[in-house]
Amino acid sequence: MIFDCHTHTKFSADSTMGPRFALEQAERLGIGIIFTDHFDFNFPNPKYDFTFDVKQYFKEYEPYRRDGSRLRLGVELGLREDSRDANANFLKQGNFDMAIGSIHLIDDTDIYDRFCYEGRPKAEVYREYFRSMAQEASVQDFDTLGHIDYIARAATYENPEIDYGTFHGEIDLVLMTIIERGILLELNTRRLGSVRAMKELAPVFTRYKKLGGKYVTIGSDAHKSSAIGEYFDRANSFINEIGLRQAIFNRRQLEPI
Ligand SMILES: [Zn+2]
Ligand SMILES: [Zn+2]
Repeated sequence: MIFDCHTHTKFSADSTMGPRFALEQAERLGIGIIFTDHFDFNFPNPKYDFTFDVKQYFKEYEPYRRDGSRLRLGVELGLREDSRDANANFLKQGNFDMAIGSIHLIDDTDIYDRFCYEGRPKAEVYREYFRSMAQEASVQDFDTLGHIDYIARAATYENPEIDYGTFHGEIDLVLMTIIERGILLELNTRRLGSVRAMKELAPVFTRYKKLGGKYVTIGSDAHKSSAIGEYFDRANSFINEIGLRQAIFNRRQLEPI
């Protein structure tokens, strides 16, 4: 069964989706689903705090995760140097199936905040983005690297794409780091409606395969039920063409699909 490996429910500060709606939608699509609510610990900048009560999360959702159920329980950890201890402690508190690691900030500023880019050249900001991604991937504990092209969703540059041609050195370092540590690369389908976005992602995933990557997780980043499983047909043909396979995690053990 194919899984949507990146979804947000009401335990994420930016989603109101309840578990029943999400599971009903997954059932309609004939896919499995992993809830990966946000844990972004951002001391000393609490305005960006996206955290939740891990005990409450398992208390409420564990009953839906029976044997043979299409639900698994995960988390999306915000990767920052200051969040290393908090993330490690958080993971220990729950019996998670999978942890996504994601960069959501650059130099303490949210990637969705235009101040991230004002007065700074693209090369400088993107190098910092990939540098911190590689750095945190080298030390933090997680299973798959979330949305490598996240910055392209919000950057205010004329060409916001991650552009492997220009940033191949930085991107290679990210890919080599995750492969060495057994961390997978996520194909986030949020931007797959754009032919341009797919074209820009192709050399990144091709390089991942060439460097030894075998598996990817595929996730929609849905914050509402209608977005679950979005563009999965495109994602499947994309990874098949490159020769990669989808995998999921069960109690943090990799399971090829
Ligand atoms: Zn994210
Ligand atoms: Zn997300």
